[in-house]
Amino acid sequence: MKKTLASDWLAGCSGCHMSLLDLDERLLALVEHVDLTATPITDLKRPAEAGVDIGLLEGAVNNSSTETVARRMRRCCKTLVAFGDCAVFGGIVTLRNRVPAADALRRAYIETETTVDGRIPRDEELAVIQPARPVGDVVAVDVCLPGCPPASDAIEHVLAELIAGRTPSLKGTLLDWH
Ligand code: SF4
Repeated sequence: MKKTLASDWLAGCSGCHMSLLDLDERLLALVEHVDLTATPITDLKRPAEAGVDIGLLEGAVNNSSTETVARRMRRCCKTLVAFGDCAVFGGIVTLRNRVPAADALRRAYIETETTVDGRIPRDEELAVIQPARPVGDVVAVDVCLPGCPPASDAIEHVLAELIAGRTPSLKGTLLDWH
């Protein structure tokens, strides 16, 4: 029976998903073993639902919206993979932590040539900025797949191991596939 696979992304650049797509024709072999049930990289942009076997989560948590996505993926996925450096240890997203949120907002909305009305939006529906954190600081992670982005071969290896019911190991050559 096929396993189910879902993916989603948080703060980052989507480069990890692009590396997944770089599997090219090997994706055809992959879909013989998994059903991709939810992902932002298809036209069916729906969130994961409960009971997914494998979840790939790219990017770091950096606001209330991305935290909600991370918690949902944790609830829905039996095995959650922190997908790429930003997810594993915060990566470049955590560089923003060096700048106080108020300073960043002022720079983005007021001290810029494209300022519209010189004010910081305060709509209650906007995500609340948080310090950037790796996924594992917010929810439990089962497998870490580092790399910026992880190499396609490494992604294929990790998915093959999980599909086979094994726990992927980082020992050996996994980190040399860059
Ligand atoms: Fe982008 Fe690298 Fe972060 Fe992946 S790990 S989201 S490629 S910056």
